[in-house]
Amino acid sequence: MPSDVVVALTEQTRRYCAKEVNAQAIDAAAKIPRHVLEGLAELGLFGITLPEAHGGAGLTLSDACHVVDELARFDRSVAVSVGLHLGLGTRGLVRYGSAGQHVQWLPSLATGQTIAAFSTTEPGAGSDLSTLRTVATEKGEQLSVTGEKSYVTNGAFAGLFTVAVSTPGLGGAQRGQSLVLVEPKDRGFTVQREEHKLGLKGSSTTGLLFEDAQLPRERLLGEPGQGARMLSHILSWGRTLMSAGCCGAAAYAIDKATEHTTQRTQFGRPLFALDVVKERLARLRARHFAMEALVQATAKKEQDEALAVSSLAAKVFCSEGAGWVADEAVQLHGALGFIEDTGLALVLRDVRVTRIFEGANDVLLTHLGTSELARRAQEGPQHSINELESALADFAQSLSSKYKLRVFRAPRLLHALGVATEWVMASRAATDRAHESQSATHLAMARLIEQEARVVVAQAAAVSVDDSLFHQVLGLERPGATS
Ligand SMILES: Cc1cc2nc3c(=O)[nH]c(=O)nc-3n(C[C@H](O)[C@H](O)[C@H](O)COP(=O)(O)OP(=O)(O)OC[C@H]3O[C@@H](n4cnc5c(N)ncnc54)[C@H](O)[C@@H]3O)c2cc1C
Repeated sequence: MPSDVVVALTEQTRRYCAKEVNAQAIDAAAKIPRHVLEGLAELGLFGITLPEAHGGAGLTLSDACHVVDELARFDRSVAVSVGLHLGLGTRGLVRYGSAGQHVQWLPSLATGQTIAAFSTTEPGAGSDLSTLRTVATEKGEQLSVTGEKSYVTNGAFAGLFTVAVSTPGLGGAQRGQSLVLVEPKDRGFTVQREEHKLGLKGSSTTGLLFEDAQLPRERLLGEPGQGARMLSHILSWGRTLMSAGCCGAAAYAIDKATEHTTQRTQFGRPLFALDVVKERLARLRARHFAMEALVQATAKKEQDEALAVSSLAAKVFCSEGAGWVADEAVQLHGALGFIEDTGLALVLRDVRVTRIFEGANDVLLTHLGTSELARRAQEGPQHSINELESALADFAQSLSSKYKLRVFRAPRLLHALGVATEWVMASRAATDRAHESQSATHLAMARLIEQEARVVVAQAAAVSVDDSLFHQVLGLERPGATS
């Protein structure tokens, strides 16, 4: 349950957004009005996760998820801009920054006077971050940075960028990556033009250019050469907050679908009274319940490793869920769903990118499958508490015994295990939340998700390593095949 402070803050945010945030106007102008960002700053939203000692509210990740969820019910561009600041934008500084760096930047970040951005992606390095080409080298007491970055959220108005760079030789690591803090005024650094996007048009997305940019050495964040380890923690926060935004977007779409199907009459009855429509709405609500449960279960994980794994599942489950919910809500509106004024077409466009950014889902699913196998190998056989958990355990066990260590070189198998794991984690979170509340509706929603998860696990477990048909369809020779 959220604390009284968070309930009050969420309520204030709701009242402010209902009055000042117009998602369609933001979409049409492709910009969040200045006064909206200032209003959100006055509410204190940009400082909620920052330490109290530096002007923040010191709230938890779980608290921040409630706020981002609320913002996304009104506008996804606003939710992404604020969520990025609270997660990817400032988490590195809060966790790994020095006392001097904290004093220099946290106070203005907490008031929203400075907005934060975060940059790893490059033209040649998207899903594969091991290939960063933006390089920082030491020149006396300075760092010289050269390279190009892509798709930086908040890029146009950020006052502080956390940037991942390659730092060969720095910190004793031969190859290593590090994080550096960059300000727009830094010599040799320029923010590039705005991208034109399918959705989230109000959020800013720009490239960055470093041309022998000169940074004082104190701009290094944390230990040099430890970039990958720090990124893992920062991305866990970012993905959890982004998942909360997906929940808010889905909640808005479900409310609209419920209202419409109650009011619209066809075949002499409200649509809501039709069996197929009832099933659809029930499944939508159950999915949303599981999404929220998984986000909250994830946000409460304190151990870095547990948070990292759970945030993979939350990110995939919630982004896929939001896309599916938005699409179903459009369907239930019929032609009206296809009309921009209804507001659902915008949700559909806005949420599409959540399956791509902060790690493309297919990549994350393979990571999730890998970590699930590794965990089971480490922990040994476990007592499974129900049929669903047993089905997942059997699937993982069959992969290990059939393919031994070769399974770690079979991405399609790991991906399938990732899908199964994601659903089992969501079902587990939904069941725990339902047992906690003891609400009959919650218990029914958890049962529905468990049923769906069983189907997903069975389908995933039917995956085959035989890819000969795919190769034939694509006209490719199979690796190792002789003609
Ligand atoms: C609106 C927007 C905002 C963004 N904001 C930021 C930001 O603030 N900071 C930042 O650093 N980046 C940001 N990004 C970039 C985003 O994180 C990347 O786009 C994302 O990580 C995917 O990289 P890519 O686009 O290069 O896709 P690629 O790596 O080229 O992959 C393309 C597709 O190939 C498939 N694929 C790739 N690898 C695998 C694999 N191993 N297994 C299976 N399938 C695979 C997937 O289907 C994937 O979607 C943003 C992007 C957008 C669109």
